[in-house]
This record gives sequence, C-alpha cells and structure tokens, in this order.
Amino acid sequence: MEIIVPAVIAHGGAGPGPKRQKNLEIAVQKAASILSSGGTALEAAVEACVILEDDPVFNAGTGSVIRTDGSVLTDASIQVGDGRVGFVIAMEDTPNPIRVAADLLDEEINGLTSAGARLWADQRSHLNAKVEGRSPEGQIGDENAEITGDTVGVIARDNTGMIVVATSTGGCSYRPPGRVGDVPLPGSGFWAEDCLAVAATGIGEAITRALLSNKVYERIKNKGTSLEESMRWGIDTLISPEHSVGLIALGPNGPGIGVSNTDMPWATWEADSNK
Ligand code: ASP
Repeated sequence: MEIIVPAVIAHGGAGPGPKRQKNLEIAVQKAASILSSGGTALEAAVEACVILEDDPVFNAGTGSVIRTDGSVLTDASIQVGDGRVGFVIAMEDTPNPIRVAADLLDEEINGLTSAGARLWADQRSHLNAKVEGRSPEGQIGDENAEITGDTVGVIARDNTGMIVVATSTGGCSYRPPGRVGDVPLPGSGFWAEDCLAVAATGIGEAITRALLSNKVYERIKNKGTSLEESMRWGIDTLISPEHSVGLIALGPNGPGIGVSNTDMPWATWEADSNK
C-alpha cells in the first residue's frame, strides 16, 4: 500500500523579497506540527494561515494594505480536494477572514461579501476587530499601484491524501474599496481538486484574466508535466512580464514547489517517509 506523506507549502507574496522568510517558516512549522500529530490538512492550512494573518508584516488580516479610501478590507478563500469551497470578499473589521471562509465549507452557499459577510461572521462569533476595540492595522502600500506583495497562501496534504489550499490578502495597494482580486475567485487565485492544489499571488487582475491557478492545475493533470514546469509555463505564457506573479503547488506526493517572476518567499515541509 502506498504511504501518503503529509506535507505543506506556504508563500508570503510575490514581490517582497526574501525578508519574510523567517516569519513564513513559523507558519509552516505550525502546519507541520499539526500534520505530524495526525491533524487534518484543513486544520493545518487554516492554522498556518491564521499565523500569517496575525503577523502584521504580511498583507493579510491584521497587516492588510489600506485601500484608496483609507479602509482595510480582507479577502480569503479555502478549497478542499473533495470539492468543497469557501470564500469571503472585502470584509471589514476581520483579522482572520480565513476562519470565516473555512466555516463556509459545509454550507449551502460558497461565498459572502462585504457587510453580509461580516453579519454572517458575527452570527457565528468570529473575531470582530471593532467589537474587540482594535482594528486591522493596515499598511500603507507602495506608491506604485502595480506593486503588490506579502499576501499569503498555504497548501497542506495530510496522511489521508486530502489536500487543502488557503489564501488570504488585503488586496493590491491603491485599489478602491469594492475591488475584487483573484484571491477569493475559484480557479484564479486558487484551485484544489483530488490530490493536487495550486495557489497564486501577485497582481490579481492579471491572475484573474488568466484563470491562472486552474489553468496550471489542468496542465499538471492532463499533460503530466511537473509542478515546477507547469507553474513556469503558466507565468511565462499566461501572464505578461510586467506583472509580478508567483505560484505554489502541491501534488499527491513529493514536496511543494514555488515559482515566480519576481521575489516570492516560500517555505515547505514534508514528513519523513521512513517514520
Ligand atoms: N493577489 C492579491 C490581490 O490581487 C495580491 C497579492 O497576492 O499580493 O488581491
């Protein structure tokens, strides 16, 4: 019988350079300890993502970039290889949107946006920054609107072969309050099906136009090309080079891999198959 080895990969956004590497590794270690003690890929992906959302250096949750009107709005998504999906868009006062997205996995609806998303979260007692007397702090983004960065994504595989992808962002800098990026859009910012998952980061408009995560997923699945070659193909052929974009992927076996056309910190862990 084939032994499935738990694994995780996380990225800290396309563009910021390697300076977030240590912060990223803390989240990967959290996922690794959950998976090593028999936890599920769902728990591992969510808890690693929460660590990144709570770390103000990342553009997700607490450290989300400020929109053009001064608001801080967060997007997050999660998808399980069994087909379940949950996503939230432009949530106010929400330091951990990934927990709200995860709560949608077993609901009839897949996604929620803005005030309705916050109301739904309040009814389920999800952390509300306003009620707690703190607000997501928000970072002033780079003045160049095409600069993005520090968004987060995690893919985890557990010992049953279940794969889960979780992504979270405050969006790109200098975008208006109602803007929808790729992170909450299935197939664009993320795709997980069966034992394979892909997550994207970078300029959300370019990623969305390319349906990037799903296209890369389909290439790996249908052509049997490696994770790395397929992600490279996706970025080089579907994204114009002036847009910073990165991808991570994890398959049914082997470690996760990250590829980008700029700097993108990523970290990976795989359990020892001999244990
Ligand atoms: N893709 C995210 C967005 O466009 C930003 C990022 O990954 O840095 O909202």
